Formats: sequence, structure tokens, C-alpha cells
Amino acid sequence: MITLDEKNDHYFMQRAYELAQKAENIDEIPVGAVVVYQGKIIGEGYNQSILNNDPSAHAEMLAIRQVKGNSLTIID
Ligand SMILES: [Zn+2]
Repeated sequence: MITLDEKNDHYFMQRAYELAQKAENIDEIPVGAVVVYQGKIIGEGYNQSILNNDPSAHAEMLAIRQVKGNSLTIID
């Protein structure tokens, strides 16, 4: 079983922060999200509610939708 060390946690949070900055740059609420599975990012997103005129286009929803579109077997 893979466990995430603090360095990796920092890396993933840094990526989420970068995604939040992307949202801020297009005047969205600055939230970013990553989904991590076995030490790898398998989904990521940033708020796009205004851009997409979609109140459900939250960072975490977009990140989860990316996971749904990927087969977990690809990641191994
Ligand atoms: Zn949200």
C-alpha cells in the first residue's frame, strides 16, 4: 500500500493552489482541487461556474468528473 509522505502532500496542495490561481485569473472564485489516488493526480479542476454558466462547475466537481472519465486501470 502506498502512503503519501508530507512532501507529496505539499506537492499536491501546491498544485491545487495553482489551479485556484487559474480560477482567480479568470475572475472565478479562487478554488482549485485535485484527486489523488496511489500517489498520482487522477483528476483536477478549478472553479468555472461563471465561465461555463454552470453553478455546479465547482473545482471539486470538475476534478471528480475527470476521474469518472478515466479508467482507474490506466493509472496503475
Ligand atoms: Zn465547491
